[in-house]
Amino acid sequence: PEPVISARDVRVWYGTTRGAIRAVDGVSFDLMPGETLGLVGESGCGKSTLGRGLMGLLPTGAKRDGEVVFKGRDVFSMSAKEAYALRGHELGMIFQEPLTRLNPLMRISEHFEETIRQHEPRLPRAEVQQRAFEVLRVMGIPPTRYRSYPHEFSGGMRQRLMIALALVLRPAFVVADEPTTALDVLVEAQIVGILNDLRRTFDTSLLLITHNVGIVAEACDRVAVMYAGRIVEQGAVADVLGNPQHPYTRELLRSTISLSTTGLEFIPGSPPDLVDPPAGCRFHPRCPDAMQVCAVKDPVDVERPGGGRVECWLRGPEDLVPEGGTRPLKQEELTVAD
Ligand code: ATP
Ligand code: SF4
Ligand code: MG
Repeated sequence: PEPVISARDVRVWYGTTRGAIRAVDGVSFDLMPGETLGLVGESGCGKSTLGRGLMGLLPTGAKRDGEVVFKGRDVFSMSAKEAYALRGHELGMIFQEPLTRLNPLMRISEHFEETIRQHEPRLPRAEVQQRAFEVLRVMGIPPTRYRSYPHEFSGGMRQRLMIALALVLRPAFVVADEPTTALDVLVEAQIVGILNDLRRTFDTSLLLITHNVGIVAEACDRVAVMYAGRIVEQGAVADVLGNPQHPYTRELLRSTISLSTTGLEFIPGSPPDLVDPPAGCRFHPRCPDAMQVCAVKDPVDVERPGGGRVECWLRGPEDLVPEGGTRPLKQEELTVAD
């Protein structure tokens, strides 16, 4: 089968007085029908920017480059009007802040009518209701609540309503940006189960952006690990989480595990300034395995064992590494390189 969405060398940057923030800097991946791809990485590494970029929903002033092909059509070269028609109908986005997207003065039924009629203006009310009931049922919201107002629902239910609204038009591709940030772990697990049901029922492809590696392990087929605007490792969830090939993936998993047990450990240091990221491998100032070559040359992008990709000199063919390049980086060299 053909991928639903293909991203090739996607770049997004924000102009600022300090220079361009290169939030997404050369990202490529494919997503197959019905597949869920988890996107993980520390705060500020470009996950939301990538998600919004794929939807053609970047703030004005942001610049983009590369190619995003959705069902054979290049999203980046579409007119604003075409992109608008595609969104909501074939592309759906579930945002980080649900409350701002529900109108407190409108009944749930009216939210559904507005959403559906935007794309199918003549659909009879009975049919609108039938479609709404169908997703509400999957989301575990009783159809008896159809005529209620948003404030009559709990936070968790409002979140599910948001998802129901994003899915009622059965988009082929949905970006869910931390749909559960504000919720407790129990609700989070429920929502993941629901998202999984939905994609099985409707064959929706999902990009799930999250800080929670546990959710990725539970709900995703594949995972992409993002660092400083790049996907540094991607592959099947069991392979990547079970046998990480990139030092950043390994450290991220370690910090996640210790976070849940001791509540304390983070990866030392912080992600770089994306106006002026470190030369060579962007992770080299924080990488326990950094070598001489890492501070000067962009890492090679190679196939990882088990399938997928990894960008790291440790995994690259040795004949590409210059003489002396595998000597470990010393602490004082790190500060210079940074
Ligand atoms: P988080 O996990 O905290 O949601 P993220 O991985 O989603 O982080 P982004 O929100 O995509 O990261 O941000 C990537 C970089 O782009 C950051 O340096 C951020 O400050 C910057 N950025 C994001 N939105 C804008 C904007 N509208 N204007 C300027 N810079 C922005
Ligand atoms: Fe570490 Fe070098 Fe691999 Fe970057 S390329 S992750 S610095 S070993
Ligand atoms: Mg974000």
